[in-house]
Amino acid sequence: MLDIKVTHPAQNKPLPDPDTLVFGKLFTDHMFLMDYHTGQGWHDPRIVPYGPLSLEPSCMVFHYAQEVFEGMKAYRTPEGKVQLFRPLENARRLNSSCDRLCIPPIPEEDFLQAVKALVREDAAWVPHKKGASLYIRPFVFATDASLGVHASHSYLFAIICSPVGAYYPEGINPVKIYVEDEDVRAVRGGTGYTKCGGNYAASIRAGERAEEQGYSQVLWLDGVHRKYIEEVGAMNVLFKVNGKVITPALTGSVLPGITRKSCLDLLRSWGVEVEERLITAQELFDAADAGQLEEAWGSGTAAVVSPIGELAMEGKKVLINHGQIGPLTQKLYDTLTGIQWGTQPDPYGWIVPVE
Ligand SMILES: *Cc1c(COP(=O)(O)O)cnc(C)c1O
Repeated sequence: MLDIKVTHPAQNKPLPDPDTLVFGKLFTDHMFLMDYHTGQGWHDPRIVPYGPLSLEPSCMVFHYAQEVFEGMKAYRTPEGKVQLFRPLENARRLNSSCDRLCIPPIPEEDFLQAVKALVREDAAWVPHKKGASLYIRPFVFATDASLGVHASHSYLFAIICSPVGAYYPEGINPVKIYVEDEDVRAVRGGTGYTKCGGNYAASIRAGERAEEQGYSQVLWLDGVHRKYIEEVGAMNVLFKVNGKVITPALTGSVLPGITRKSCLDLLRSWGVEVEERLITAQELFDAADAGQLEEAWGSGTAAVVSPIGELAMEGKKVLINHGQIGPLTQKLYDTLTGIQWGTQPDPYGWIVPVE
């Protein structure tokens, strides 16, 4: 058990209008911080007023990007309670990312205690509006004031929270995606399976180019063969082909998404056949030509599911389900959001209340 010291701001901020929230722009009254030093371990867990950090310009994270993060949400139920969705999965994934980046792990129960304690402090910020939630961003970074390239001896674990509006205020609109054939996001042996800031830095260029050309995101190919599908933007990707659901296997360059895992768990429990394997972009276009590419969607905490209505590669375009969300994608969306916001029962034990 962490002994978390709490300090409050002199005055709380006014709560925002849930209709005008823009993702990740506003932050709550508090943040969680905990320090690490070699020899001392993790120490000094505290909840303090949200505000700027003071770091030396030589702080290692600025130069060598030794940093990992998580993304999760707190949801408001119809009864007014606040709950989390599979938070121990985030704790485990954070530690898997830490391990790859030579960052000391954070005990799972300490991670969960810290998240709960912060959300409890800022519970008033969990919106009551349908589809809105409190986005939670835990992150850990190297704080040594040193330009030597080695694992840092000191780290900061921080958690900040940001209220977010409904992802689909105007209903779910399928997105247009193209297959990125120049940049790659990750390679096996690299950091693709971790949530580290560096992966995002390397993916920004392709995302910007996609937007310039009128696409929402890119479909990433593997970095070696430039042939196999990996992810879509910063989401996992799933396809329904001829009645079966297929998704790229977790080969090391794909991020093991909790929404992906939850989709697969639900699909299997519904008796839908699921395959995790290598999938070439060509296979998808061939399936589309044969009229068998029935549905496609991205999965991630922010959107839950994001249906793909159009796929483009080398000047060739295919429309998926007439550019509409498919019935299975819709059922996954309804079930997952129902469990998350507590409007549906949770037979899987995925919900953790914040008492
Ligand atoms: C976070 C993330 C996902 C989705 O993970 P969830 O746990 O479902 O939110 C997928 N791909 C990348 C690259 C990510 O960073």
